[in-house]
Amino acid sequence: MIDSVLASLASSTRPLLVCDVDEVVLEFLDPFHAYLESVEHRLHPDSFRLHGNVRHFSGTTATDEAVEAFQEEFFRTQDKWQKPARHARETLDRLSVGADIVLLTAMPPRHRGVRRELLDLLGFHFPMIATEEPKGPVVSQLIADRGVPAAFIDDIFTNLHSVRAHAPDCLLINLMANDIFRSMAPDPGERVHKATSWLEAERLIRSHFGSLDQVTM
Ligand SMILES: [Mg+2]
Repeated sequence: MIDSVLASLASSTRPLLVCDVDEVVLEFLDPFHAYLESVEHRLHPDSFRLHGNVRHFSGTTATDEAVEAFQEEFFRTQDKWQKPARHARETLDRLSVGADIVLLTAMPPRHRGVRRELLDLLGFHFPMIATEEPKGPVVSQLIADRGVPAAFIDDIFTNLHSVRAHAPDCLLINLMANDIFRSMAPDPGERVHKATSWLEAERLIRSHFGSLDQVTM
């Protein structure tokens, strides 16, 4: 899967934007909450994590195994639940005029088909890589030795830090669709820019890519 994406980028001299999907391109937390309610549970924003915060309507906390099973079923039927994050589609469309865009989703490959179909249905026709491998080495491979400016967007700090370690010149943006959980997020760490919206992320990306403004105006 990554090989075909690498081949498509091999001769490109355009800047590269790599985007996570859940909570970045597609909403995850609100749809997951809606799914949980369909199975008589709720996600309580008591802290910045899922595990321990999912409770049955009766108040009983779901076990880690139960939360894993809920996530599995949610992703298996994600096309019933997930919708685009606010401003994601139009911002990516604007940026795609002057930059290459790759979606990098930390999803078990068994859910790849339904995710690809959902993204296409919602108009996100960008190449997608679904992998549970650390994201840093993947982004480093995508940049390769082309010397193009690159940016990476994710809601999960470990992914941002992985890319920071493997692609030191890459702009790192922490973006999370859900307002409540974003407000509880700890500091994302050194060199990670926090954006509260896609529009703010777009400004950071255009500033980092520089010549993109001339290409798209
Ligand atoms: Mg995510």
